[in-house]
Amino acid sequence: MNIILLGPPGAGKGTQARRLVEGRDMIQLSTGDMLREAKSSGTEMGERVAKIMDRGELVTDEIVIGLIEEKLNDDRKGGLIFDGFPRTLAQADALAELLARHGEDLGAVIEMQVDDDALVKRIVARSVCANCGEVYNDITKPVPESGECTQCGATEFTRRGDDNEESLKQRLLEYYKKTSPLIGYYYAKNELDRIDGLADIDEVGEQIDRILDR
Ligand code: ADP
Ligand code: ADP
Ligand code: ZN
Repeated sequence: MNIILLGPPGAGKGTQARRLVEGRDMIQLSTGDMLREAKSSGTEMGERVAKIMDRGELVTDEIVIGLIEEKLNDDRKGGLIFDGFPRTLAQADALAELLARHGEDLGAVIEMQVDDDALVKRIVARSVCANCGEVYNDITKPVPESGECTQCGATEFTRRGDDNEESLKQRLLEYYKKTSPLIGYYYAKNELDRIDGLADIDEVGEQIDRILDR
């Protein structure tokens, strides 16, 4: 089953996607991760989008649709998790078309509902394992006292350049202007499920499991 995790920055999309990769052999397609990879490997496209990402603005539809299109040719295993994509109506239309071309569809679009105050708190406390990408939080999911990643044992953790209050404001603005209309779009297509993203990490996971198992 292919699903979309929809929600503002900090809603917990990446955290839950990793859980589904582990538990259900699904494949996480995070356009944010793909763009950061392009940025750090110094490709021409990466250099072009670096400043846009640091400002908290959206990169062009053409670029992210191209990234997703490439991945659809790979093995889809237990299903695809679209994490941070689509973020505009044009991306949503493009995704429907791409899936149809591959004879696939969407099993669920899961809106992770959170409130804006919680997002700021979560984002400024986020860190990520430099080796495997496991997501941590200084308050709600701290790195173990041993200093080792629970998933891979690495000891280096990084913080994203755009995880500061100023860039987050811009990212939220982009979310409300360009991405939140997707909630109505998928509701009208009868594809939307809503869950409480403010519950703790395991409880959010259980809500998602119930949707996938129905
Ligand atoms: P978050 O974890 O805060 O939701 P992401 O890691 O998904 O953020 O994305 C980080 C940045 O990458 C975004 O602020 C944006 O600049 C860019 N980006 C990621 N996905 C998309 C997309 N689907 N469309 C446009 N820009 C995107
Ligand atoms: P997104 O991919 O939507 O931007 P992340 O999964 O990276 O969000 O989560 C943002 C931050 O919030 C991380 O530090 C993560 O550890 C933390 N977090 C995620 N889900 C929860 C939750 N249900 N309760 C508390 N903190 C959470
Ligand atoms: Zn790790």
